[in-house]
Amino acid sequence: MIVVMTSNSTEQQLNHLVKMVEEMGLSTHIIYGTNRTVVAAVGDKRMVDKSALENVPGVEKIVPILSPYKMASKEVKQEKTVVKLQPHGSGVGGDTVRVIAGPCSIEDRNQLLDIAAAVKEAGAVGLRGGAFKPRSSPYSFQGLAEKGLEYLAEAREQTGLAVVTEVLTVNHVELICRYADVLQVGARNMQNFMLLRAVGEQPKPVLLKRGMSATMEEFLLAAEYIIDAGNPNVILCERGIRTFEEYCRNTLNLSIIPAIERVSHLPIVVDPTHGTGHAYMIEPMSLAAVAAGADGLIIEVHPDPEHALSDPGQQITPSQFRQLMSKITRVAHAVDRKL
Ligand code: PEP
Ligand code: MN
Repeated sequence: MIVVMTSNSTEQQLNHLVKMVEEMGLSTHIIYGTNRTVVAAVGDKRMVDKSALENVPGVEKIVPILSPYKMASKEVKQEKTVVKLQPHGSGVGGDTVRVIAGPCSIEDRNQLLDIAAAVKEAGAVGLRGGAFKPRSSPYSFQGLAEKGLEYLAEAREQTGLAVVTEVLTVNHVELICRYADVLQVGARNMQNFMLLRAVGEQPKPVLLKRGMSATMEEFLLAAEYIIDAGNPNVILCERGIRTFEEYCRNTLNLSIIPAIERVSHLPIVVDPTHGTGHAYMIEPMSLAAVAAGADGLIIEVHPDPEHALSDPGQQITPSQFRQLMSKITRVAHAVDRKL
C-alpha cells in the first residue's frame, strides 16, 4: 500500500509513520515527490490492519498498490526515474537518449582501449564489455576475468566513459563493484533471485536484461527484487525473447517500450545486438527503438567483428557505429529527444 502524507506533514510525523509501518512487519520506501511525500509499505499485508494508519497525524490517505510489482510500478511513483550511470555522470531516463557501446567480450587491452576511444568520439556515454561471459558451451571463450575488469577501469580513466559489465554470480558482486560503474545482470540470470538481491544490496546502478522467456510482469518483478533489496537504480534492458522464429537470434520486442512506460517509472534501454543476432539489423532496429521511445541503446562494437572471440555475426565496426549515431541523432530529434 501507499501512505500519502499531507502536503504540510512534518519530518517527525513521517518518522513516526515509518516506525509504525515497520512494526507491522512491512518494509518502507520513502518517495519524496515534487509536492508531497509518499511512503510505500511493502511486504506480506495479510496481518496488517491498515485502518490503524489512517488516523496517524500527517497521513492523508492509504491507497492499495494493485500491481504485483510495487516499487517498480507507476502507482508508487509517477515521475520517470532517471538513473545516473556515474555519480556525476549521464542519466538514463531523461530527455536525452543514451548510448552504451563496446565489444561483446574484452579480448585484450588494445582492443578495448581503441574501441573505447572510438565509441566515445562517436557520442557514447558508456562502455560495455564482458569480462566474465555466460557462454552456452563450456568450450567457448569465457572472458579475461579480472584482467578484463582492469582494462575496463583503464578505459574509463582514459575516456571518462561509464563502464558496464556483467556479474554472473553472487560471489563476484564485490569484485565487479570495485571496477564497474554499472552492474549488468544478464538474460540468463534475470530470475536468479539471490543475485538480484545481492545487486540490490550494493550501491551501483544495475542494468537488468530481460530473460529470454520472461513476460513483462516477470521482468518487472525481477526489477522489484533489486529495488526491494535497497537499490532503486534499475535500468531495464529489452534484448529480445526466444520465439519460434529462426531468421534472427531472438525476436526484439519493441512494443514492450510503451507497455513498460504505461505501468512503470523505470527507464528502458534496448539491445538490438542480442535482440537480432545480425549486424545488418542493428541500424534499423536501433532507429526503431529510439522512435518507439527507448531511453537508450546498448550496442556491441568490435574493430574486426569477423574475428571476434564471441558473437562474431552481430557486432558492428566503429565506422558503422559512427554512421549509426548520426542517424540516431536525427531520429531522436524527430521524436523530441536529444542525443
Ligand atoms: C551481453 O550483453 O553480453 C549478454 C550476454 O547479453 P544477454 O544476457 O542479453 O544474452
Ligand atoms: Mn554478446
